[in-house]
Amino acid sequence: MPSPLRSLKDSTPVLKGLLFNACRLLRKARAEGRPEILTRARTLYALERRVLDYLDRKQVWGLDDSTPAPVREGFDLLCETFLHLRDAPDRGIAHGANRRLNALEKKAKIERLRSYPVRLGIEITNQCNLRCPMCGQAGEKGPRFFLSLDDIATHEPVFEWLDEMHIYGYGEALLVDYIPELLALIPPHVRSVIVTNGTLLTRETCRMLVDRGLKTLTVSVDAADRALYRELRGVDKLDEVLDSIRYLIEYRRSKGLAFPDLTFNVVAMKKNVDEMPALVRLAAELGVDRICIAYMMVFYESLRGESLFYDQERADRRMDEAEALGRDLGVQVFAPPRFRSGTGRAAHFDRCYEPWEIVWLRCDGKTSPCCGFPDPLGAWRGVDFWNFWNSPGFTRLRRTLETDQESHWCRDCANPYYMDVRLESSHITNPALRTIASREADAAR
Ligand code: SF4
Repeated sequence: MPSPLRSLKDSTPVLKGLLFNACRLLRKARAEGRPEILTRARTLYALERRVLDYLDRKQVWGLDDSTPAPVREGFDLLCETFLHLRDAPDRGIAHGANRRLNALEKKAKIERLRSYPVRLGIEITNQCNLRCPMCGQAGEKGPRFFLSLDDIATHEPVFEWLDEMHIYGYGEALLVDYIPELLALIPPHVRSVIVTNGTLLTRETCRMLVDRGLKTLTVSVDAADRALYRELRGVDKLDEVLDSIRYLIEYRRSKGLAFPDLTFNVVAMKKNVDEMPALVRLAAELGVDRICIAYMMVFYESLRGESLFYDQERADRRMDEAEALGRDLGVQVFAPPRFRSGTGRAAHFDRCYEPWEIVWLRCDGKTSPCCGFPDPLGAWRGVDFWNFWNSPGFTRLRRTLETDQESHWCRDCANPYYMDVRLESSHITNPALRTIASREADAAR
């Protein structure tokens, strides 16, 4: 395969031609006040593809001194064009322009963004009605917060730029009573997702979620066996939770609707890893669309013996079985990377783009790039959107990701899409609980 630089050099005249044509179109669109001309311009797509291809194949992430001038010029021109198109009166064109600007900025590893995020996370509370032993909530002694609808609504202008809005976090989303009003604020094109433990899912709530247009409901169900569920969740509520799911599906069908679709969230550990195939069968039987499995993170000494990091061969076998069964039964199974694969970071995606794509509005008034990054990156309450989206914390995170200076949260990322499954530190959150060998390896990294 030719090196990216070589293929770029070969194609430079073509790139220059594309730049020239794109400039001409941009001028014409501006002069005639018709930005939609550009969305039909094949030239622009070709230029975009070429710049993105170059950035994708570049070994060191992002634009830097080694980037050839035509790529830089192409990048600048595309950014200006998409910014211009973002003002188009047609909201579809404007929305698409922001999404494409965001894609360019993340591939170029830009620190201060001009694109809006494409996803927003809202942690409405860190309070939970359960104390599941495998969750950080079990020993949580910190303050509890609830966001008000007014707090959230201050950033409503950002909602129209989103593809997805996630309503969850460290607490139980259904503890707040303004979910109907919150769903009413979300534009119809945005995929709204609520994550719940399901124990507060009454029939009335199910009807409300369907009627208010929720797109995805994710329910935490870690076992298909009632006794095991009780042990893992601390409450004997599996039958109730499953009844609610059946009712929601039935009600949705009675309305002739396809949404919300349903997901099982599963925290996998030694106790329940053999249950993975049974959970797939249960999902198929109920009509649940997908299962997302993550390895349990170890916060406490009592959980250490439950980590699948110490039972890798069995974990791999059960994840394989779950995926194969999912294919047979028509349930999507998103299982974490296998230990035997030796896959490092980004087993599922080429790399983590969370700090470009999403901002979490935490219930303590701070921002984060994801659930697994507890250090706050700035305040969002009462702060202008661009000031917290480009806060010093966020720009530093974008600059340092995949460098020697990256945060230890990223280095030991536990997100199943980006984690390095081979690292004990990605499974054992509390450094004091890691093996001496692993601690020495951490110190040497
Ligand atoms: S902790 Fe993981 S998911 Fe979060 S920003 Fe860092 S690498 Fe990405």
